[in-house]
Amino acid sequence: MEKVIGIDLGTTNSCVAILENGSPVVIPNRGGYKTTPSMVGITEAGKRLVGHIAKRQAITNAENTVFAAKRLIGRKWTSPQVKNAVATSSYRIVEGPHQDVRIKLRDKDYSVPEVSAMVLQEMRVIAEDYLGQPVSKAVITVPAYFNDNQRQATRDAGEIAGLDVIRIINEPTAAALSYGFDRKEPRTIAVYDLGGGTFDISVLEIGEHGVFKVVATAGDTFLGGEDFDARIIDWLVTGFQKEHNIDLRQDRMALQRLKDAAEKAKCELSGVRETEINLPFIISSGKNEALHLQRSLNRSTLEELCADLVERTVDICRQTLEDASLEKKEVEEVVLVGGMTRMPKIQAEVQAFFEREPCKGVHPDEVVALGAAIQAAALVSDKQEMILLDVTPHALGILTIGNQFEELIPQNTTVPTTRNKIFTTSRDHQTAVKILVMQGDSKASAEDNEILGEFVLTGLRRAPKGQVEIEVTFEINADGIVSVLAKDLETGLEQSIQVTASSGLTRDEVKAMIDNAQDYMVERRSSEEFEEIRQEAVKLSVEIERLLPQVEQIVATSDFGRDAIDKAKAIVGKAKISIERKNIGELKEHLEQMSRTLRMFKGVVAKG
Ligand code: AMP
Repeated sequence: MEKVIGIDLGTTNSCVAILENGSPVVIPNRGGYKTTPSMVGITEAGKRLVGHIAKRQAITNAENTVFAAKRLIGRKWTSPQVKNAVATSSYRIVEGPHQDVRIKLRDKDYSVPEVSAMVLQEMRVIAEDYLGQPVSKAVITVPAYFNDNQRQATRDAGEIAGLDVIRIINEPTAAALSYGFDRKEPRTIAVYDLGGGTFDISVLEIGEHGVFKVVATAGDTFLGGEDFDARIIDWLVTGFQKEHNIDLRQDRMALQRLKDAAEKAKCELSGVRETEINLPFIISSGKNEALHLQRSLNRSTLEELCADLVERTVDICRQTLEDASLEKKEVEEVVLVGGMTRMPKIQAEVQAFFEREPCKGVHPDEVVALGAAIQAAALVSDKQEMILLDVTPHALGILTIGNQFEELIPQNTTVPTTRNKIFTTSRDHQTAVKILVMQGDSKASAEDNEILGEFVLTGLRRAPKGQVEIEVTFEINADGIVSVLAKDLETGLEQSIQVTASSGLTRDEVKAMIDNAQDYMVERRSSEEFEEIRQEAVKLSVEIERLLPQVEQIVATSDFGRDAIDKAKAIVGKAKISIERKNIGELKEHLEQMSRTLRMFKGVVAKG
């Protein structure tokens, strides 16, 4: 059966998994790590670096290294979150041609899906290397709270990476699938997911016969580990400013070093009570002397700095239970997901809120990818072993007169679903109505919601206002695709659209990006092949050159021997030239001849 991978495309780290012999397993990368930093860097020579290798050079190449691209994906240039990122980021975020967001690396502007695609491509390569076969299909996870545009942008990223994204599923749902994989008893669980950039809480009912039903979900796509790091950075910057009257934020490289040190300190404080932050030569003073930053940070100061962030997650949990009309005691298990849940204060607050100790049996960094792999396998299997019933994370509705948001499908409605409502005309002899489809949770100010699409129903029968009745029907299918139908109830006249979310990219742009990504892969695979052959050629020439003096001594008296030695020297020389010229075809040919020469040399030495 075709292998379909599950990818957790995280803000900070990504992880890929697959179902093997009936169990989900995480695939380690070449370095042996089970997660790969979601980081992309472009070197001065234009070389693309992804993952650990990008992270390692982030400090010295801060302007051209992207992290946390997920915070920007599917967002409009004008959104407050993007404005915030522009102000605080060490890389350059610029406006794209469709009010979208682009990232400037060296002299090229990349769209956010393109950057995410580079990470996905890396995950795909990790899987292909492990499986020894090409992989073309994937299930990718997104925060439950992502809106349709963010989901579409993630799909685009998958497509650019050469993957057929067979389903996008919510991270907490994936975590629940993984949690419930081997557990047969029905129960209600809460998944508390605090990662690098986003927070999600979902409540799910795991029923009999593999039914997973999401009861409620909520979250904040701009609340995560990065905010905790930012608090430490603020604390360090303010302290430094007081001491030296210098603003470290003005220096991109210093900022990147601070970020690194802040994250490191935060992680360390999950294990120890106090840690040293040491950044020698962080900046030079006005008098050209090097200044160092050295401070110790203890766990309780960190907890004070971040208290409101933790509280915000608990408030969202409280609201979610309320929305689902659930009592705390009805939640039978709490599953922690995301790297940030290693912080003792978070574990303590979650335990205090839910009044139960969180489940220890799942790995917070791997559980989402494992769940994605389970779903991936289920989607291509012909056995119906699992049913996933997810909910809409945001309300869907239309904009009506007076900028009112009229909700048709409330938040947390199980999908697939269909809902309708009857509206009447607002003007005398009105012959057309414009239907503006919106998604969001703000009833008071409709403009805070995301516009998903619009269409016009024309040819209405002329009548006094309020007398023409129009039925508007919303439908969401299992893939989360929204269709809207408007119908004049008297004449039967109707008009419908399928709401296609917009990632901010046109189809042509996506196609061009797919081509670029394919070219990159061909180049990468061929440079990997060249490197393998080069290493083999170097090994053979070293061996030949090592045996050369002995062979010369043994066969020097015969013409045949001298000829063989000249040929051996010549082929080693040719191989070196081919390596310099990076000529893979030539080198392959030389490789064969060098193997033969080495065999002969070994034979001569053994006999001699
Ligand atoms: P994720 O998006 O799930 O990979 O989570 C990444 C976030 O978890 C980052 O902000 C990390 O700094 C944070 N993180 C990872 N390990 C720890 C730890 N031991 N203690 C606190 N935070 C951590």
